Amino acid sequence: MSSNHGHHHHHDHDHDHDHDHDHDHDHAHSHAHPHSPPAPDDDDGYDRYEVLLQTAIRELLDEKGIITAAELHAQIDKQDSLTPSIGGKIVAKAWVDPVFKKQLLAEPLKTINQHFELDIITPLDLVVLENTPTVHNVVVCTLCSCYPRMLLGIPPAWYKSIDYRSRVVVEPRKVLAEFGTDIPDSVEVRVSDSTADLRFLVLPNRPSGTEGMTEAQLADLVTRDSMIGTSLALQP
Ligand code: FE
Repeated sequence: MSSNHGHHHHHDHDHDHDHDHDHDHDHAHSHAHPHSPPAPDDDDGYDRYEVLLQTAIRELLDEKGIITAAELHAQIDKQDSLTPSIGGKIVAKAWVDPVFKKQLLAEPLKTINQHFELDIITPLDLVVLENTPTVHNVVVCTLCSCYPRMLLGIPPAWYKSIDYRSRVVVEPRKVLAEFGTDIPDSVEVRVSDSTADLRFLVLPNRPSGTEGMTEAQLADLVTRDSMIGTSLALQP
């Protein structure tokens, strides 16, 4: 599972009509045209062509009654309602319940749906990467912005930036240090490259001094970035 930079991005198979509906599919456009200039690296990264294309498709879908504007907005609202607190609850439970953790690592989505009464149905594969005293995991999508939206919500702007995507695979320790995360030389840093059909969630190490804390208190220590791997869980 380490340094799987060689994964092919099968974006043609990425038709998520579900909870993980990925608004960044527009970025996949650039995959087919590697020689076109990179999109401007602003908050959404869309260039004029992509905006026009998106508008045209949206209006056509609406006109033909395939996806109405109301349905589209309902889906956007659903996406906006997903937050990293879902991931935090999963991590906290894994910290306190070894049986749950074992199941989580073996069958992530099935286990998450069962224990949290969720109904995540997705063609995507989810892999939980467990940090240990000797291994630190960090997640990227080198080609675009694939992200475990079903557990963390919408990705931060930096996750989609060319800077992060290109540098974290080359100099992960340096990039992590820029996040304020210093990983000792004795700990191996593994970078996992997400794809259109494979997403990763980092299971951060449980912070020291948290022995007496409840699951709910622990969940508050689990930041979004700790589940991407650019940070550690908070110290209480
Ligand atoms: Fe991607």
